[in-house]
Amino acid sequence: MKKIIIATSNKGKVRELKDEFRQLDVELVPLSELEVQYPEPVEDGKTFAENSLIKAKYYQERTGCACLADDSGLEVDLLGGAPGVYSARYSGEHDQPKNNKKLAAELEKLPEKESPAAYQCALTFVDEDGAVLAAQGYCRGIVKPVARGNGGFGYDPYFYIGEKTMAELTLEEKQAISHRGAAIREMAAKLKERL
Ligand code: IMP
Repeated sequence: MKKIIIATSNKGKVRELKDEFRQLDVELVPLSELEVQYPEPVEDGKTFAENSLIKAKYYQERTGCACLADDSGLEVDLLGGAPGVYSARYSGEHDQPKNNKKLAAELEKLPEKESPAAYQCALTFVDEDGAVLAAQGYCRGIVKPVARGNGGFGYDPYFYIGEKTMAELTLEEKQAISHRGAAIREMAAKLKERL
């Protein structure tokens, strides 16, 4: 069975990646399960795709194993596309409750108090021989400063699709419509052909 390092320590991402990849004959190993803990790479790309390539290459080169990286985030139309590639540190810290608080505060300042938004996800796979596969997905919704639901992760309690937030959906329901679900399905199809 092929071993693939998942270049993230975000438990929400690991859960969603593992769920969708169960159909493939691969063993997915998150960073937290590696014997050596590497310092984090500098994510200085301007796009989600660039950052996911930086992460996948970084861990592939250090471990010698095939590696899959996810870079994703939220783009809020009426906030000029923020937080975008800075989604993980919108408040200035890698602290999701603080990031959520900042998002709610920024939305409260808008006359509309809400905004159309999109989740974006870029996945990059770098194989043992350096070959690269890429996939992308996005999902549109409305962000509001009112949090609802305990599921999902990150900004999900603020991201509305119709009446429900992403945090009120089951894992299966989220995967069916989410940015990550779409990117994972595209990547899984490409990997199936390669493996
Ligand atoms: P990254 O780990 O640098 O890619 O940062 C991704 C950040 O974007 C996460 O920490 C979340 O704040 C946000 N994010 C990405 N995907 C999702 C999602 O599916 N739901 C909610 N927030 C997400």
